[in-house]
This record gives sequence, structure tokens and C-alpha cells, in this order.
Amino acid sequence: MRHTMMQRTIGRLLEALDELLFPEDVLCLCCDHALGEDAQDGICPACARSLEQLAQAQEARETEEREALPEGLSYVHAAFPYEGQARTLIHRLKYESVRAAAVPLARQMVFLPSGEEEIIVPVPTDRRRKRKRGFNQATLLSQHIGRELGMEVCTALERVDSRRPQTGLTAAQRRKNLAGCMAASGAVNGKRVLLVDDVYTTGATAQEAVRALRAAGAASVGMFAAARAGSPDEEQDPFGLTEKAQNDGKNQEKPDRIYGNWGKTL
Ligand SMILES: [Zn+2]
Repeated sequence: MRHTMMQRTIGRLLEALDELLFPEDVLCLCCDHALGEDAQDGICPACARSLEQLAQAQEARETEEREALPEGLSYVHAAFPYEGQARTLIHRLKYESVRAAAVPLARQMVFLPSGEEEIIVPVPTDRRRKRKRGFNQATLLSQHIGRELGMEVCTALERVDSRRPQTGLTAAQRRKNLAGCMAASGAVNGKRVLLVDDVYTTGATAQEAVRALRAAGAASVGMFAAARAGSPDEEQDPFGLTEKAQNDGKNQEKPDRIYGNWGKTL
């Protein structure tokens, strides 16, 4: 009797191990459909095509629009508009802690036109939110970009205060909320810095980061964002995940859902 139970337990363990090592239902990061053999970066071919179209649309928009940049920032380029599959990837990364979602975003970001930057500095998230998520999404994007472009990633910026989340605030409220909230280490002194973030919205976060980097002696600052949102309202969470839901730990990647190429790097 005991023997049979033990066998059954071992059988179940082996099944679980088999599923973990050879997952059959690897899902597309964007649409949750099972991935086929021809999928790349955890994205199904249909979503990959949509992402490509979004990237092309953003590229056209970037060359048309010349908006006022935060003082001290040389340029800002985004790989995608904050829409469709790009938006889904960012939400997987930010609110569901799916690290694999950084790969297709970063893969497009490396094609953005850059200056002569020497080091990559991710925009920091505050410690409380980083603890909840387990990582800083901008650092993850930076690591993929750094590896691809052969550039050093330096986490020289940090939040010095825990403010309210920026989501849902107007541009003026964002600036006020963020004033003096970042500091940079001396590692950026004399360096040309490429600042990296997931979403560029009003430029309020970038402005604070640039202020801190310049104060620490950065020679110049350019910026890459995975996506650009047209207005702060667009940055709202389509999955309805509030801070409370995140507190409840509901944003954790579900162990029974496996997204493509998890743990894979560029
Ligand atoms: Zn898909």
C-alpha cells in the first residue's frame, strides 16, 4: 500500500519534471496561443508581424515628430508605440514579472539610432516596487541591449525616495511627484550615457534622471525607450492590475503558464 503511494508520488514528480524540462504548451508572450516550431523570441508569427508593423509605424512617427525634450537630454527614441502587442509585452514584464518579455522589446531597441554613448544606465524603479516584481524592467532591457551592442551597463541611478506611482498623473503632477527623487553615482562622471526605460510618456521621469546624471558629471545623455505613450492615460493597465493586486502577489508569473524562450537571452 505504502509502496504504491510512493510509486504514484514519484510518477507525478517525474511528470512534473518532464513538463518543466520539455514544456508542450509554450505560449506566445502576446496572445497566449501555443507556440509552434517557427516561433522566435517567444512570439508567434502573427504577433511578430504585428510587432514589426508597430515598429515601422513608430519609426515613421519618430522622424516626423520633434517634441521638446527634457533639458540636458540629447534625444529620445522609442522602438514601439505603446499599443497592441508592444503594450502587452511591457505589461507582462511590469505587472506579471515575465522576464522573457524583455527579449523581443530589447531586440527592436538595439536598432534605434544612438549617439556615441559609452555606458548604459537604466532608469531605476523604487525599491518597494522592485522587491515586489523581483527585478527592475529597465535594468533587464539594458542588460539585453548592452550584451547586443557590447556596452557596459551601469546601475548608477537610484531612487532616493519612494513616491506615488506615476501612472494616472498629469504631466505637471508627475514632475512635482518626481522632483529630487533620483541620484546618480560618480561612475557616470565624464561619460556619455545612454539612458534606458520601458515607457517614455511625458518625459518627467527622464527629466529627473537626466538632472541627476548631469549633476553627477555625465558628459551627455541620450535615451532609448521600449515604447512611447502619447499621453499619461495610455499608460493605464489594460489587465486592471492595481497596486493592490500587485500587493496580493497576483502579478507573479503563473507556474502553469510557460511563455516562450523563458530565460533565453539575445
Ligand atoms: Zn501571438
